Amino acid sequence: MTSRKKSDELFHRASVKIPGAVNSPVRAWKAVGAAPIFIESGSGATITDSDGNIFLDYVCSYGPAILGHAHPRVIQAIAEQARLGLGFGAPTRLEVELAELISSAIECAQKVRLVSSGTEAGLTALRLARAATGRPNIIKFDGCYHGHSDSMLVRAGSGAMTLGQPDSGGVPSAVAAMTMVARYNSIETVEGLFRAAPEKIAAVIVEPVAANMGVVIPDPGSLKALAEIAHANGALLICDEVISGFRLCFGSVAESMGIAPDLIMLGKIIGGGMPVGAVAGPARIMDLLAPVGPVYQAGTLSGNPLSVRAGLETLRILKESNLYSALDAAGARLQAGLRDALKKTGQPGCVNRAGSLLTMFLGPERVRDADEARTSNSVSFAKFFHAMLASGINIPPSQFEAMFLSTAHANADIDRTIAAASDSLHALTTGKS
Ligand SMILES: *Cc1c(COP(=O)(O)O)cnc(C)c1O
Repeated sequence: MTSRKKSDELFHRASVKIPGAVNSPVRAWKAVGAAPIFIESGSGATITDSDGNIFLDYVCSYGPAILGHAHPRVIQAIAEQARLGLGFGAPTRLEVELAELISSAIECAQKVRLVSSGTEAGLTALRLARAATGRPNIIKFDGCYHGHSDSMLVRAGSGAMTLGQPDSGGVPSAVAAMTMVARYNSIETVEGLFRAAPEKIAAVIVEPVAANMGVVIPDPGSLKALAEIAHANGALLICDEVISGFRLCFGSVAESMGIAPDLIMLGKIIGGGMPVGAVAGPARIMDLLAPVGPVYQAGTLSGNPLSVRAGLETLRILKESNLYSALDAAGARLQAGLRDALKKTGQPGCVNRAGSLLTMFLGPERVRDADEARTSNSVSFAKFFHAMLASGINIPPSQFEAMFLSTAHANADIDRTIAAASDSLHALTTGKS
């Protein structure tokens, strides 16, 4: 990296006017102990910072950029749409088309409500579950993230995990008390919570492939068991597919594993890089929403034409070209190379992967839940992050975020990443950096 002069200047200006200099905590690079770079532009698999440095990017906007940055067809669609007006506070044809497309790809998605973020999708899903069951409590898993609504900021993974704060300030204890926390991949802890509060639990909410404590894969059969326990106890199963939806297959990864969720949350990819979220489910639950039913939910920019058009174009490209086997092959190539690099350099660690989502944990030999993720070596991770950055590779600045691959990542990019990782891990072993 040649210089960080402009990024540093921007960081100082930002620090004066923006809390922590960022509009979302992980961007502040706190876990890796440095001031972040500011980004000017992105194209395909690369981003360019304000000093003109170019990086191969594995953040990919934390998921939406599955086609790489500034995909020409998506940009053209947005540009065309922008000329037609940015939103009308009235329904549009595009919203119908996106709802139909989502519904055609996800069996349980009989009806779809669009919102502007995954957070909103989460709070709407919980409100619906509480209305449908008449019950107050929710079971979530330690390390899963469902947006920053009050009741979901308990053991929330990701940003909260990175900052080492299990819970957020400003959440009344009475609200937090309605959220019960189970251990990922532990059906016993879920059973225990149902026993402790029978007939009080409205829903179990889960990331069917967890990606906010680093990537953590569900044990075979564990989601099926979860659905059964929830239903046996009169509770709903909410699958949060804000990351996994349309990333691991064209639709829902839970459904691809044979699970039938009662509600699905979507976001990220379905907005093609623009702000979006969605809740989807059977008509009997979704029609509880206003204006049909008693559950209020609204949004000035919900279903806005730019987000919807960008999402439609992205989903159409994904569907036409069936890009999922290529994404999976790219993920497998990276995983194999990183595993090999760990082995060759003698660094302890493991590489968890689902399709084009991947995390290399430094330290633990396996990670099946948040406690195991927390045994990672954060000092080694920070050094590894900076060594990668110096090689021109931008990975997420936290051990607890997934690396995201896009269809723009070529084999040569992946091989360059593996070589850089190998050198960076070697420098950890020898203490040089
Ligand atoms: C990103 C994310 C959210 C929140 O979405 P925002 O658009 O950031 O509000 C919710 N759930 C999961 C699984 C996510 O990864």
